[in-house]
Amino acid sequence: MFLSVRGRVLVNVEALNMTESVGNYVKHRRVPVILPERGYSTYLVPAISGESIAHGYQEIVAEKSDQENIPVCNLCRKGIFLKSTNEEVFKHAFGSNPPNNGYDFEREVIRGCVVEDLGGFLFAPRRGAQARGRQVKRTSCFSTGYMVPVKEALESSIIEPQLHSRYALGTKFVTREEERGQMIYYVELSSSTYAFSFDLDSSKVGRITFDMDHYGEEVISSDDIRKRTEVAIESLGELILEFEFGAKKTRFLPIVEWESIAVSVSDGVWTVPSPNSGYYLSNALSKLEKTEDRAKLFVYLNKEMLRDTVHYIKKKSEELIGEMKSIVEEWKKGLKEKMPEYYEKIDWEEIVKKKLESLISKRLGEVVES
Ligand SMILES: [Zn+2]
Repeated sequence: MFLSVRGRVLVNVEALNMTESVGNYVKHRRVPVILPERGYSTYLVPAISGESIAHGYQEIVAEKSDQENIPVCNLCRKGIFLKSTNEEVFKHAFGSNPPNNGYDFEREVIRGCVVEDLGGFLFAPRRGAQARGRQVKRTSCFSTGYMVPVKEALESSIIEPQLHSRYALGTKFVTREEERGQMIYYVELSSSTYAFSFDLDSSKVGRITFDMDHYGEEVISSDDIRKRTEVAIESLGELILEFEFGAKKTRFLPIVEWESIAVSVSDGVWTVPSPNSGYYLSNALSKLEKTEDRAKLFVYLNKEMLRDTVHYIKKKSEELIGEMKSIVEEWKKGLKEKMPEYYEKIDWEEIVKKKLESLISKRLGEVVES
């Protein structure tokens, strides 16, 4: 099963992904994004990293699996995703020494920890240690990436530092003159409609991927693979519904509103087109048509957005009718003055009737499509 999720989410006053603090100034993550408009222009925009989303997702997977008695290692259970990075970590996570070959190593990790089965790991021990720098790696079964402002929001997205203060004047903790009772600090906040992407491929769950002689071999039972896949899907649902990722939420809890989401389910790889474009839902429908319905598509669209579409179409239609009327009047006047011999021969009623029919059908089509 391959599951692909793309969405657009409006996030106001967020500090979900901070990169560094310089003195009392905490910076929001920024990334360069290119927009193909008037040539190409580059913008430095607020972003939320894929690592941040993956961390939130794996925390949900660990918690849900633990509740359902699916094995989770000692570290992942606590939300510490060191992922078998060296011998010490492995010993702490699984309570045993790491096996000395890649096949047994991956098998042991898959058996003992669903988070590393789904989210991958990299064993990179020091050269001098027992494992002699021998690396073992497993690629994650899910992929996610930077959330950046959608195309239309790129120019309007903003990062703004907000002033805050810790106040302790008048308390016994401020005794000497040099001890300041008021500490000011700045936190950069951002607001934007972000593009969200997440893919989940269940074909490698519970299976060997590192050792080429055993590639694809099932390490756990088919029933356990099914259970782990179900947990992976349920966790993804919770991640989206509860927006369970990002930092600084205790005092900078953002105002979140999903505008739209598309989820596709297929046997092979089939991804929903990029939500960077406002037409991604209709792009998904035409992709589905062109790929002979290789996936099942589920779409959520915020009702507010629909209301806006209907208003937009109504306004646009009024404008068009007004414009059409004045153009027809102008043509009639021009022809009457400059080419009166043709004026009488033209069936004005028929021309206007045909154009109006096509306009009405096009606008109604847009309403139905939306
Ligand atoms: Zn683990």
